[in-house]
Amino acid sequence: MAGLNKTNIIAISTIFLASSIAFHSYLSDSSDPSKVLPSEANTQPISNNSSGSVIINASPIALTEPVSRERKTTFSLGKNENLMTVLTNLGFDRKHAAHAVSELRKVYNPKALKQGQELSIEYNAAEGTESAKLKTLNFKTSAGNSIELKYDNDQFTAQKFEVKLLKRLCKVEGHINSSFYSAALKRGVPASIVKDAISALSYDINWQHDPQSGDEFKILFEVFEDEAGNIIKTGDLKFAAFAPQGNWRKIYAFKTASGAGFYNDKGESVIKGLLATPLDPTKMRITSRFGRRTHPILGFSKMHKGIDFGAPIGTPVASAGEGVVIKAGWNGAYGNYVLIKHNNQYSTAYAHLSRINVKVGQRVRQRQNIGSVGTTGRSTGPHLHYEVICNGQQVNPLSVKQLPAIRLNPKELAQFQQVKSQCDTDMQTAAPAAQLASLKMPVSIG
Ligand SMILES: [Zn+2]
Repeated sequence: MAGLNKTNIIAISTIFLASSIAFHSYLSDSSDPSKVLPSEANTQPISNNSSGSVIINASPIALTEPVSRERKTTFSLGKNENLMTVLTNLGFDRKHAAHAVSELRKVYNPKALKQGQELSIEYNAAEGTESAKLKTLNFKTSAGNSIELKYDNDQFTAQKFEVKLLKRLCKVEGHINSSFYSAALKRGVPASIVKDAISALSYDINWQHDPQSGDEFKILFEVFEDEAGNIIKTGDLKFAAFAPQGNWRKIYAFKTASGAGFYNDKGESVIKGLLATPLDPTKMRITSRFGRRTHPILGFSKMHKGIDFGAPIGTPVASAGEGVVIKAGWNGAYGNYVLIKHNNQYSTAYAHLSRINVKVGQRVRQRQNIGSVGTTGRSTGPHLHYEVICNGQQVNPLSVKQLPAIRLNPKELAQFQQVKSQCDTDMQTAAPAAQLASLKMPVSIG
């Protein structure tokens, strides 16, 4: 057999197939010679040789099969296409197609089928007056579940086969070249995870100024795999750390009764933290710090109870944190003034504005635009006078990195310490980035 190539094997099996058909035809038709087809008329009688095997001297047979209506196709959903248009294009009548769509709806919303969705369809093609009829429709949802719609005995049945997903932690470590965002994306971290990390770390990092080439970062996040080890979807960010100039800043995901959030390594919430600057850092410079100074207009020594950021008139001013607007309007020497209360302890104030974009009583998010830089009130030129008020007293904004009022209670803090140390362990043991190769997430680098 060693010398037998593939062609020989095919040739032999073809002969055997032809022989057995001829043999079968001979047996079934032999009782009625009139049924023997002209091509089979030359078939020689069979004879048994000494070894008992059947030898047939078969002549070529013309096999005429009826044209099958069965079709099988796999394709991706085009722009402006839906299941209804797909089925009617395949020759299904509208009633049958509509019936299929409504049956599918019992297990899956057909509107969730997006452009590019792969569909496998088996059906009987239209013939004569008979329209096409579905046999099976199969596809995989974005969550990795399999959907099957069957049509059998005039009955549609739709089924969802839920894929068993296993949660696994992935870690990514590296150093940045140009930006944290692009460095993390390059190592396979999904864009949504990188954005969460940047947002959570921004309480303490000035992304425009702090990062330098070579700074290290770490990210730990969840992925969900099917049983074959394919990553089906991304889970949550668990931990992120960045070390501008070797100075590590860390955030940990932690859940309390009031919700999920990110906390620094001391257990302080970072979501409620104040921005380091309420202006785009690339568009301002500090022109006067907090403390005693000779007043530029009044001429005598006076306490400067805020920070002055010099910036062009019209530069957008952001709320340093989430809160409620307490004052929004003219306030004497402060000119146009906004006061935002963040919690029972902390408020921030913004003065000399050219424009106010919020109203008293309004809730504002962190980074929400509240107005524009101006030079209204007692002011020598365009700047933002920014104050942080703690328990009714102005404090140095540069010394306030957090809103420490959002602290975990002792029980929560104990739980946080456990989560934190588990996270630190996971960061040592989790699978590294190399195994993210199968993670095919849409990535946009804007
Ligand atoms: Zn000032």
